[in-house]
Amino acid sequence: MSLLARAADLDAADPLAAYRDRFLPAPSVVSYLDGNSLGRPLAATADLLDDFVRDQWGGRLIRGWTDGWLDWPLTLGDRLGAVALGAAPGQTVVADSTTVLLYKLARAAVDARPGRRKVILDTDNFPTDRYVLEGIAAERGLTLVWISTDPAAGVLADQLREVLDEDTALVLFSHVAYRSGWLADVPEINRIAHQAGALTLWDLCHSAGSVPIRLDEWGVDLAVGCSYKYLNGGPGAPAFAYLRHELQDSVRQPIQGWMGHRAAFEMGPGYEPAPGIRALLSGTPPILGMVPMHANLDLLAEAGIDAVRTKSLLLTGFILDFADERLAPLDVTVAGPRDPARRGGHVTLRRPGFEQLLAPLWDSGVIPDYRRPDGLRIGPAPLSTSFSELYQGLTTLHDLAEKHR
Ligand SMILES: *Cc1c(COP(=O)(O)O)cnc(C)c1O
Repeated sequence: MSLLARAADLDAADPLAAYRDRFLPAPSVVSYLDGNSLGRPLAATADLLDDFVRDQWGGRLIRGWTDGWLDWPLTLGDRLGAVALGAAPGQTVVADSTTVLLYKLARAAVDARPGRRKVILDTDNFPTDRYVLEGIAAERGLTLVWISTDPAAGVLADQLREVLDEDTALVLFSHVAYRSGWLADVPEINRIAHQAGALTLWDLCHSAGSVPIRLDEWGVDLAVGCSYKYLNGGPGAPAFAYLRHELQDSVRQPIQGWMGHRAAFEMGPGYEPAPGIRALLSGTPPILGMVPMHANLDLLAEAGIDAVRTKSLLLTGFILDFADERLAPLDVTVAGPRDPARRGGHVTLRRPGFEQLLAPLWDSGVIPDYRRPDGLRIGPAPLSTSFSELYQGLTTLHDLAEKHR
């Protein structure tokens, strides 16, 4: 069967096909393949934002805080935990940005393991993760131990075993590697780290809303992630943090603001952290940025993360088959895992000179993501992308790659 016919068959059999119509149309876009950088907005999000400005902000004004906004970081966190993270209530907050929450959690974690001087991370993690940990290491006199990962894969359990010891305070990795798309074996890595008494911090930016996550079951200690990729929260939407129940009394984050205080509105002298997960908050929560999350979590709850994952594997499988059949003859290689058990929601293709294709691709309405020096990431979000749309985008890429040989 041709790839074109297969795309049509897959669309006809897709139980999630109708969800695509819930997103706002983008008339200038033929094929959106960058759901892993910025998810598309739901039509319901435009209505929610409009209602929020007119009725809640405009109508309730300051009363909105006590009418519910003050609790949004926790209530939305619980909902996100239930729908996407496999986290029981009371362990997730929505706040800040991923970078800031990463700092708060990583600093808190190393301080909770006093005397241990090492933090283990990998060279292929997202820049912000690497930079934030460099800063913390300098502040706290710690040593960063770097695992060099195969660019086509991710961190392997054996690599961790080689460098882990009783001097390790914290281990930080991404659940899905932003470049290769490698899906880490979280429970296995947690088990190894815990045997040495180290804490684990997972970055879920590239997996939340795309891959099923079971934070409680997997024994994750701390996690952060963003809500603007597969969770469709919009540019600069707030991030989320998870802190396991058992650690909430012993792990203390460093940015002591009034919103994390035990009695914020008493405005008294001296900081005393609020009990539980609220202590992860610092300042006034970014309420406006949380509005879209209400619609997005309803959508994800309705579709179900398992169905999203099933379609995601079919989409990435289609990319791999297309690459093998039509792109390999043009010297395009797949730079990432093929095994479905180790594959996240995007596929990275490589060819020297891919950079020159980006402008003509955008001009043709095809929008993938470019990563230096020669990678194109194809990240089709399952709820907003059809197989035919993916086929069209890949075909345009093929034609341009042929032309710019
Ligand atoms: C997107 C992403 C981030 C982004 O952090 P921000 O603070 O939102 O800019 C961090 N880590 C990973 C792994 C990402 O994919």
